[in-house]
Amino acid sequence: MKARKPLVAGNWKMNGDIVSNEQLFTALRADLGRASVPQVEVVVCPPYPYLGQAAAWLGDTGIAWGAQDVSALPNGAYTGDVSASMLVDLGCQWAIVGHSERRQLAGETDEQVAAKVSMCMTHGVGVIACIGETLEEREAGRTEAVLGRQVDAIVAALLDPARPLPAERVVLAYEPVWAIGTGRTASPEMAQAAHRFVRERLAQQGYRHAGATRILYGGSVKAANAAGLFAMPDVDGGLIGGASLVADDFLAICRAAAGA
Ligand code: PEP
Repeated sequence: MKARKPLVAGNWKMNGDIVSNEQLFTALRADLGRASVPQVEVVVCPPYPYLGQAAAWLGDTGIAWGAQDVSALPNGAYTGDVSASMLVDLGCQWAIVGHSERRQLAGETDEQVAAKVSMCMTHGVGVIACIGETLEEREAGRTEAVLGRQVDAIVAALLDPARPLPAERVVLAYEPVWAIGTGRTASPEMAQAAHRFVRERLAQQGYRHAGATRILYGGSVKAANAAGLFAMPDVDGGLIGGASLVADDFLAICRAAAGA
C-alpha cells in the first residue's frame, strides 16, 4: 500500500445531459457511496451547468466533485468565465487547471495556469494541475524540458506563503498530450519515469510537500490498463476522460486504484 492515498478524477469534458448524468450519478452512488472504497479518493468533474446536479447527487456520499477549469481572475467583466469564489459558493471542492485541451484550444500559458493555481489556493479549492508533452515534443527528446517548465510555473504559485494549500489538496496530473483520447497510453514504465521526474523537480524547486503530492496519470486510462499504471511507485491514481463516462469502466478504474 502506498503512503499517498490514490485519487481518481473523472473529467467528463463537454459531455452529458441531465438524464444521462443522473444515471451515472446513480451508479456511482450505489457503488462508491460512502466509504465503499475508502482506500481511494474519487472526484467527478462534470461541465459547469451540472455542478449543482453533482452537489445534489453526490453531496451525501464520500465522492467529491469539481470543475474542469476556473478563472485566473477574481471577478468582473470576463464573459463566460467562472471564478474560484463562485465554485466555493456552490460547495465545489476541486478544480482541474491547465488541461491540455485548454492549453491548446484556448491558448492558456504556463503563467495563466499558475495564476489559476493561485486563485484556487486563495479560495481553498483543491487543484488538479495538468502538465504533459505533445508527441512532437517527445519525439524531439524534449519531454523533460517541457515538463520542467510547466512544473516550475506551478511551483512558483505553490510557494506563495500567503496562500497555503495543504499538500493533500494539491494534485498534479501528468497527461501526455499524445495519449489523451487517442487510445494510445504511456506504458507503466514511461509514466513512472515522467512521474519520478516531476516529483524530483517539485523538490528541486523547493516545494517541501513533493513527497506527499499525488501525481495522477491521464491519457486513455481504461479498466484494462489501469492496474499496471497505478502499480508504479510514483503514479498515485488517474485523471480519466472517456472512461469516466461509462459507470462500469470508471468503477473498475477506481477499484484498480484502491488495489494498487
Ligand atoms: C483527459 O482528458 O484528461 C483524459 C485523460 O482523457 P482520456 O482518458 O479520454 O484520454
